[in-house]
Amino acid sequence: MRSAVNEAHSGTGENANWIQRDLAHVWHPCMQMKDFEIQPMIPVKSGKGVWLEDFEGQRYLDGISSWWVNIFGHANPQINDALKNQLDNLAHCMTANFTHGPMVELSEQLVGLTPGPLQKVFFADNGSSAIEVALKMSFHYWRNVGKPKKTRFVALKNSYHGETLGALAVGDVELYKETYDPLLFKPILAPSPDCYYREAGESWEAYSKRQAVKMDELLAKHADEVAAVIIEPLVQCAGYMRMYHPVYLKRLRESCDRHGVHFIADEIAVGFGRTGSLFACEQADNSAGVSPDFMLLSKGLTAGYMPLAVCLTTEHIYQAFYDDYNTLKAFLHSHSYTGNALGCATALATLKIFAEQPVIARNHELAAHMQQATEHLADHPHVAEVRQTGMVLAIEMVQNKASRPADSTPYPWQERRGVPVYQHALSQGVFMRPLAHVVYFMPPYVINEQEIDLMARVATEGIDIATNQ
Ligand SMILES: *Cc1c(COP(=O)(O)O)cnc(C)c1O
Repeated sequence: MRSAVNEAHSGTGENANWIQRDLAHVWHPCMQMKDFEIQPMIPVKSGKGVWLEDFEGQRYLDGISSWWVNIFGHANPQINDALKNQLDNLAHCMTANFTHGPMVELSEQLVGLTPGPLQKVFFADNGSSAIEVALKMSFHYWRNVGKPKKTRFVALKNSYHGETLGALAVGDVELYKETYDPLLFKPILAPSPDCYYREAGESWEAYSKRQAVKMDELLAKHADEVAAVIIEPLVQCAGYMRMYHPVYLKRLRESCDRHGVHFIADEIAVGFGRTGSLFACEQADNSAGVSPDFMLLSKGLTAGYMPLAVCLTTEHIYQAFYDDYNTLKAFLHSHSYTGNALGCATALATLKIFAEQPVIARNHELAAHMQQATEHLADHPHVAEVRQTGMVLAIEMVQNKASRPADSTPYPWQERRGVPVYQHALSQGVFMRPLAHVVYFMPPYVINEQEIDLMARVATEGIDIATNQ
C-alpha cells in the first residue's frame, strides 16, 4: 500500500496537520466519523482535470466526479474565467424583486435545450431543495385547479431523491431512510424497472415494459389521490447504480397522461450528458424523447463548481398559479440563494462547453472504452454483472454467482466488501467510493483512455482482494 496515506494517519507532515485540525471540528457528510480511525481522510490542496492532489504531492484520480458533479474537470480554464468575470460584476442579489443577466440567460438556454413544453424555470440552491420545489408545486397545482385531494406521490422502489425530509420521503434506499421513517410522509412505492431482476434470457426492454404495466395499474387505482410520479430516468444512482430501459419513460408518460398525474423527472444525477444524451429523457423514444411535467437539474448543471439547482415546468402549470394576489395561488417558496449569480454564470460556462465541443460524441467513445476495459469482469466468479448506461458503469459483487435473478446471493452488508476496493484503489492513486458491494465508475468527461485503463485495473485488483477474503 502506498505510504503517503499511512504516514498522514500516523501524524507527520502537512496532511496530518490538516487531518488533526479537521477532526477537532468538522463533521463530514455521509460518514461514520469513527471510520476515519481506519481510513484516513485525504486533505485536498488542489485539483486539475480529473486529478485531486493532497498537501504532500500525492494525486488521486477523481473516479466518481466528486459525487457525480464534476463533468469538465477541476480548475477548468473556461469555467474559471467565467466565474472570475462574474465576480467583478455581481456575486449575488436576492431574486424575488430583482433579476440579473446570468439568471435570465440561463433560463432561456435551459428552456431551449430541454423538451418543448418545459418553459418556466424555478431556481433552488441544491438538488434536494429542487425536489421539494417540484413536490410542493405539483400538489399546489392540483389544489389551485380544484383538486385538493391529490396529496400523494408515487415513487419507485430503490429510488433516491436527496436527504431533506420531503426528498427522503420519496426515496427508498433503506440505509439513508429507515432511521428517519417516523418523520416522513408515506409515498406509494411502485416496483422498479431496475433490470438487475430480469429473468434469465429476458431483455432489458421486456423487463422494463413488464414493470411499466405494474405502474400503470397502480396509477389507475390511486389516480384520485396522487399528484405526481417521481422517478430518476434510466439510472437509480444512489440505489446501487441500478439501470433500466428507456422504453419505461415512454410508457410512464402515457400512463401519467391517461390517469391525470404529473411526471417528475429527477435528472439531478443523470442530466448533462451522463447517460449518453444531454438529458436522459431524450432516450425515451427512438424518434423523440418524452417531456416530463417537471424536470429537476443540479450536479452537472454547474460542472461541479457551485451549488445550484432548477425545477423546470410547463406554461400550463405556471398559469395555474398566475392570478391576483388575494387568491393566494402564488408559489411562496424561496431559498436565500435562489438564482445565485455566480452559480448561474458557472452554469452558462458549462452550457457553452456543451455548445462548442463535441462532448456527447466524445462520451460515446469514452463509454465504449470503459466497456472494453471492464468486460473481462463479467466472467469473474464474484461479479453478478457489469452494467452500463453511457458514462456510468457499475460492477456488482455477489457472494454466490448463480443464474438470474433471485438466486444470486448478495454479500451481507455488514461485511463491507466495498471497503477493500476503496483502500486498494486509493493506494494506487484512484479515488472511488463503492456503494456497498457495487463498484462503479462515473468519471469527469475529460478523462482519457489511459486513465480509464488505470481505473479498470485497480478495480479488478480491488475486487479480487475484496472477494477472496
Ligand atoms: C444527488 C441527488 C439528489 C440530491 O441532490 P443534493 O444536491 O445532494 O441535495 C437528488 N436526486 C438525485 C437523483 C441525486 O442523485
